[in-house]
Amino acid sequence: MINESRLITTFTDLVKIDSPSGSEKAAAEFVAARLRALGLEPKVDALYNVTALFPGEGAPLLLNAHTDSVAPCLGIQPVVANGVVKSDGTTILGADDRAGVAAILEALAALREQNLAHRPLEIAITVQEEVGLVGAQGLDLAQFKSKMGVVLDSHGPVGTIIVQSPTHNLIEATLIGKAAHAGVEPEKGISAIVVAAEAIAAMKLGRIDAETTANIGVIQGGAARNIVAEKCQLTGEARSQRESKLKRQTNAMVRALERAAKKHRAKAKVQVTRAYNQFRFTPRDEVVRQVSAAIERVARKPKLDVSGGGSDANIFNAHGIASVPISIGYEEIHTTAEFIPIAELGKTAQLVVELARVAA
Ligand SMILES: [Zn+2]
Repeated sequence: MINESRLITTFTDLVKIDSPSGSEKAAAEFVAARLRALGLEPKVDALYNVTALFPGEGAPLLLNAHTDSVAPCLGIQPVVANGVVKSDGTTILGADDRAGVAAILEALAALREQNLAHRPLEIAITVQEEVGLVGAQGLDLAQFKSKMGVVLDSHGPVGTIIVQSPTHNLIEATLIGKAAHAGVEPEKGISAIVVAAEAIAAMKLGRIDAETTANIGVIQGGAARNIVAEKCQLTGEARSQRESKLKRQTNAMVRALERAAKKHRAKAKVQVTRAYNQFRFTPRDEVVRQVSAAIERVARKPKLDVSGGGSDANIFNAHGIASVPISIGYEEIHTTAEFIPIAELGKTAQLVVELARVAA
């Protein structure tokens, strides 16, 4: 049913197109051209999200993947050998998430060629997923009629359904002290770096409990060796599967910053923003049942899993489209060792066909 060599060609052609987050125009044009060739009328928005309707019968289903990749992703040279596709070792491969895009394109072609009855498919190929779900957030979600969605963007062999994902808070802090000559009159200064160090030392970070994590990922401050540092900036985050725990952890981090600043008579400007909200499904939920049925039809055993990360599914769920990420075969993503077995790529395309055919 799936044309494996066409699928591999689509995938390798796609990853050869440079598509770092924020520069997805060429990849979007490739996708739009392929959709047009299938007789669809794709729309490309200002961000280069591509959406299209593949008409069918029954309840519509949203299918999503993203075109952007993390660095290093310029000049990807895919190597097809020994049943896998990998990069030449100097870049990531981009299977995250162009394997998802290629699988959707192949599944649509297969459905059309074989004239198979299927439900309407609403295609949403997003951008800037890797930098905070920016494309999905900018997408006009009102255009979709689907009550259910599948996000082709999780690692591991085909069969896993992500049924739970955390809520994610972003924390940005600027500590303002007072500059002074470090050798002549340091007592006139207030070191923002010292304030940051005390604040971070007072924070509990890393794994807080089974459902909660926290991190300070970037710290930047100071102007020169001999100046008491006036300014220091911190970029951090907290995630939890539970809102109450997330609130407690986020507040503790903010308080640590404010306390250290107060102690040193510095100023702390702390900003907390919500990156995305959690979702949680049970095996009884309709989307989980339908995706499980499709997985069984491609001869795999459905496995329900919890993720510590977010995906476009978090955005769709927040807008009332019950959506789950599924594993599509890629491994070691966000590293130059990223690869995808060809058998898994084919299985993913087959799974999309079965998702389209599951009676809704
Ligand atoms: Zn991804």
